Amino acid sequence: RSLSSPQQQRRLLNHFISKAPTSHPDEASPTTTENNGDNGAPSPRRFTLAVKDNIATTQSSLPTTCASPFLSTYHSPFEATIVTQLRARGAALVGKTNLDEFGMGSHSTHSAFGAVSQCPDNDSTPTTGQLSAGGSSGGSAVAVATGEADVALGTDTGGSVRLPAAYTGVVGFKPSYGMLSRHGVVPYANSLDTVGLLARSVGALRELVVDSGLWAEHDPKDPTSLSAAARRRCASGKQSYSYYYKQQNKQQEGESSSSSSTPNTLSLKGIKFGIPLEYNIAELDPGIRAAWSAAASHLQHLGARIVPVSLPSTRHALSAYYVIAPAEASSNLAKYDGVRYGLRAADNTTPTTQGENEGGVLYSTTRGLGFGDEVKRRILLGSYTLSSEAMDNYFVQAQKVRRLVRRDFDRVFALDNPLHEGEGAFDLSDLPETVGMENKFGPAEVDFLLCPTAPTVAPRLEDVGGEGKSAVDAYMNDVFTVPASLAGLPAVSVPVRVRGVTAEGTEGVGDMAGLQLIGQYWDDARLLAVAEAVA
Ligand code: GLN
Repeated sequence: RSLSSPQQQRRLLNHFISKAPTSHPDEASPTTTENNGDNGAPSPRRFTLAVKDNIATTQSSLPTTCASPFLSTYHSPFEATIVTQLRARGAALVGKTNLDEFGMGSHSTHSAFGAVSQCPDNDSTPTTGQLSAGGSSGGSAVAVATGEADVALGTDTGGSVRLPAAYTGVVGFKPSYGMLSRHGVVPYANSLDTVGLLARSVGALRELVVDSGLWAEHDPKDPTSLSAAARRRCASGKQSYSYYYKQQNKQQEGESSSSSSTPNTLSLKGIKFGIPLEYNIAELDPGIRAAWSAAASHLQHLGARIVPVSLPSTRHALSAYYVIAPAEASSNLAKYDGVRYGLRAADNTTPTTQGENEGGVLYSTTRGLGFGDEVKRRILLGSYTLSSEAMDNYFVQAQKVRRLVRRDFDRVFALDNPLHEGEGAFDLSDLPETVGMENKFGPAEVDFLLCPTAPTVAPRLEDVGGEGKSAVDAYMNDVFTVPASLAGLPAVSVPVRVRGVTAEGTEGVGDMAGLQLIGQYWDDARLLAVAEAVA
């Protein structure tokens, strides 16, 4: 097989890699009519669904390419569980969306199919040019923003659903780690990978994830899917679906029950939102800072309490993430060797005859052709930090930071982390030398954290990855999203319009940004309920 150059003849926004022949929701044929909770549940509502192209689909028109030359013609023999689950809930697939190769990137520019772009909201400024759609689920975000899909599936390892949502002005939800099945999702970094969803409203996501019972479904085919027993344990406290419903019902008593829509948002009375001080960095776009303050005031106005909190390990989270994720990626990508499946370089280099050298040629030629530059960079990084001389300084330290990040969160949340209950108190000996030891550990108290999703609005495509830009510049966009990923916590990005922002002092030119709400582990139902108040 030879490499094609599929980037030709793509549409301007370039957000789809392949499209389903029919895209009308009425033509969908859900595979099951399973009852998703309530007795006598109505037949599923139809909706259009776009699927990120690192999630397996079986239709002949929809290969699963991961935007990689390695898999540009790959057809999966099985369907990802999440796709099956959503089809059972009325989803009609409209196509597979463009991404950064294997999910590695923040602008959806590292794709074998060319970069994704988004149309600026206000075409009145011709100088605006093409904007970054964020990454790596940029294609999914644009499909939702343009209305071509009601819902889109993405994957969020370090922010890949939340960042595109913020840049394109849609809602992006990353669930608790282990909640939604990853069977059929091509792994990037297994200890961080989650399947996330994008839609134009929080309500649409809440209906799908919470009301339809998706969050309760264990998948035996996914070893990281939380077991039924663990789900029961997690849901026995305030993180529970029933608690959430009791709150809804209490609130709705006496109200007209004729409304056919799903329950309203939770009352915010008594709910505490923490403002993590470390997120107020100097590089934060002033317009986003203003929107963040305005949202906090709005919540206060609705009866919530706003308190400042400190998450001191946050400043090390980004570096820890960019050690852990590439390390896991380098291991995951080892299987793309030209032998087992996917691309194979020209056949004159066979691995079998003359031992290592010729085999090495097949591997290196295939991998040289089959991976893009960013993926190669991650493989080199990951192989280095896992090597014996570097392991202690990088990988081991990063794991320690990861534990500290998680403890920071556990300390500020009023709810216990159901996965780590009964774990010992904070132990100073866990602190690596490199971590500051300021004692900012206040009492645990908040229900949710409110912070920006990213430090800037969407930059121009021509400004990312161009001259004078290092790969690290793109990594910086993930500074606010990786902490929740490292801790496995649920987080949702809701869109806010950033008014009166100029590009001065930032590279951003879009006028949409995201505000992020982070909840304690398995508190996804309440998180989505309160997010509606912010949206
Ligand atoms: N931008 C981050 C990275 O490149 C996050 C990617 C993701 O969440 N898939 O690793």
